[in-house]
Amino acid sequence: MFVHERIEHWKTVLKINDWNIVCQSISEMQVTEALMDDTLGHEFVGIERQFDSKTGILYHTRPLLEDDIIHELLHVRYPEWSEEKVTFWTSLLFGEPVLEHKSAMEYLLPTG
Ligand SMILES: [Zn+2]
Repeated sequence: MFVHERIEHWKTVLKINDWNIVCQSISEMQVTEALMDDTLGHEFVGIERQFDSKTGILYHTRPLLEDDIIHELLHVRYPEWSEEKVTFWTSLLFGEPVLEHKSAMEYLLPTG
């Protein structure tokens, strides 16, 4: 997978073309508490958002996958969303809907 090509693709889909997304490979030893958002075991993928300069720094301890990119760019596009909601929408956009997700109805249906 061409990571930068996929980032550009999802930036377009999410209408955040004005953001500059930079990938930064880090070692597991560099993962600090401030970046613990997406920790799974010792792996880490997470994005630092600088809203004033519209820059996102995508830190990763392993090669990025397409769903990582979708997930982290959703955090850029919808900073107010919960981790749970971002994870749910990532699964939908990635084409592997997690429809048993307990909040699926909440996220998909108008709540009036
Ligand atoms: Zn996340």
